[in-house]
Amino acid sequence: MTRRLTLALPSKGRLREPSWSLLEASGVSPQEPGERVLQAHCRNADIDLLFVRADDVPEYVQDGVVDCGITGLDLIYERECDVEVLLRLGFGSCSLQAAVSMEDPAATIEDLEGRRVATSHPNVAAQMLANRGVKADIVRVAGSVEISPRLGLADAIIDLVSTGSTLRTNGLRSIGVLFESEAVLVGRVGSTDHDARRTLTMVLGSVVNARLNRYLLCNVAKDRLADVTALLPTTGSPTVMDLATPGVVAVHALVPAKDIWSLLPKLEACGASSILTLPVERMVP
Ligand code: AMP
Repeated sequence: MTRRLTLALPSKGRLREPSWSLLEASGVSPQEPGERVLQAHCRNADIDLLFVRADDVPEYVQDGVVDCGITGLDLIYERECDVEVLLRLGFGSCSLQAAVSMEDPAATIEDLEGRRVATSHPNVAAQMLANRGVKADIVRVAGSVEISPRLGLADAIIDLVSTGSTLRTNGLRSIGVLFESEAVLVGRVGSTDHDARRTLTMVLGSVVNARLNRYLLCNVAKDRLADVTALLPTTGSPTVMDLATPGVVAVHALVPAKDIWSLLPKLEACGASSILTLPVERMVP
């Protein structure tokens, strides 16, 4: 008999919405997706969902309360949990940065030696400073970290940053990145015997991959084909098909979404026409 897989998902906060939308796009969304539901079964798959706080997920997975979970990479380090990262999910990106007030003389993370640093991520901050050989005095705060230098509580802060606007609003300047984080799918270390875990990793991975790519189609005269294919930032081989019009071919290729902006004008300049880009739903390399 195959055992049902249990998956812990963030029940609130920044990671909730994108986690739920990834499950939806993967075709395994909850059957009763209410705001207050704490447990649910998945549509189309033998998965039981448990909705918990993102910062509890690492411990639940480590202790075997659930088989897998979605959480932030930073939270795994902060909770000092031993779990296996199965997949990077491409959302919840942020970095743990050190920052000082505009007038502070510190220019690099090493300049924090011997100084007081406020953070609500004390474990990961201490670990990352130690990796660089920096000894600082960590001041633990629960929230509103950015205000600590102004209150005289600390000389600097270490906090998660995504756009940097909160730092700027509070008159702070980044002096370096200690750690890059994003949302991840995690599983119990060494638990490789679960087929459903492999399937879940593959299916979610196919959506994460697909989101990073676009399917590009265009037509080009045969004598310009080599110029057009040379432009394509694709690792695989493009598909080339004859059109009903003699001397013209259609080119189909998968290209990174981030390259579309610079690619389209170059393709047009090379004589490509009827250029289309389509979203990709799933991609298994
Ligand atoms: P929550 O506190 O539940 O809203 O989620 C916080 C998690 O979201 C963090 O642990 C990070 O993994 C992620 N995250 C992404 N961007 C940011 C940000 N700018 N500040 C804090 N957390 C962020």
